[in-house]
Amino acid sequence: MAKPRILSGMRPTGPLHLGHLTGALDNWVPLQDTHECFYSIVDWHALTTDYADPSAIRANILEVACDWLAAGLDPKKSTLFVQSDVKQHAELHLLLSMVIPVPWLERVPSFKEQQQNLKEKDLSTYGFLGYPLLQSADIIVYKANAVPVGEDQAPHVELTREIVRRFNNFYGPVFPEPKTLLTATPRIPGTDGRKMSKSYGNAIYLSDSAEDVVKKVKPMTTDPARKRRSDPGNPEVCPVFDLHEIFTPAADRERCATGCRTAGIGCLDCKGVLLEHLLPALAPIRDRRQAFAEKPDRIVEVIHEGSRRARVVARETMDEVRSKVRLAP
Ligand code: SF4
Repeated sequence: MAKPRILSGMRPTGPLHLGHLTGALDNWVPLQDTHECFYSIVDWHALTTDYADPSAIRANILEVACDWLAAGLDPKKSTLFVQSDVKQHAELHLLLSMVIPVPWLERVPSFKEQQQNLKEKDLSTYGFLGYPLLQSADIIVYKANAVPVGEDQAPHVELTREIVRRFNNFYGPVFPEPKTLLTATPRIPGTDGRKMSKSYGNAIYLSDSAEDVVKKVKPMTTDPARKRRSDPGNPEVCPVFDLHEIFTPAADRERCATGCRTAGIGCLDCKGVLLEHLLPALAPIRDRRQAFAEKPDRIVEVIHEGSRRARVVARETMDEVRSKVRLAP
């Protein structure tokens, strides 16, 4: 029996960090054994917010591909490709834009949120409003059965399902309705306690050396109420402890939590325990990354071959779509 097909993507906005690893890649890697996976570096999506200065996007595509391979995505198991190498995404986006009412896009929660968060950019553009529609085209051009997403992205999959119903209603059954495959997206704080993000300058990258990771973890923000070593702390409000939750085994984690609550350990001791587990978790990824980074031609080859495979599937879908919409083949 054919494996169910999934699609997911990442924007090439820079090197990947712990948030990408635990929120996406750690879910994507095992899915390769149970699903037919299409993983896309969505460079057109990067343009929806970075259109004024696209100079870094091409270099970032290679960075992301390198991080993906280092984290365990396997081109023998999955189709790893670049969105703009498969022009059919754009054609389907255009056709979907003919049938989708604008208010459907205006009510997507992230539309207003991002406009608020990225005030320094003019996001009153047509491309930005339409990015969830482009996402829908990304998914359905492969007739994906499911989309692995965290809870915050679930509304986008729901929108895709509505779009599919509307399209199929006009032109006949072409697309399956993709399901939401909810994946764990643990909270990953940056070194300053805010959400980990390149734009906040608080990220620990997969490409960071062990020394860099130590330099970033040591001054990390902790429970703000624990001002002195003798003050008891509260792990539940401490960003360091959020990382313990992911990287530190239960026994050591509990020891840190108790030590924190009783002022039995200092924050530097606690961070030392975190590093004992975080560094070995990142070392094999960094080693693999280094090996791939030394062979950029191999990375280019992987994404060229992935894009070629993706085009075969997308072309077949678009042949069917054009015929249903009564367009020339
Ligand atoms: S001891 Fe650990 S958990 Fe407690 S405040 Fe310090 S770093 Fe955070």
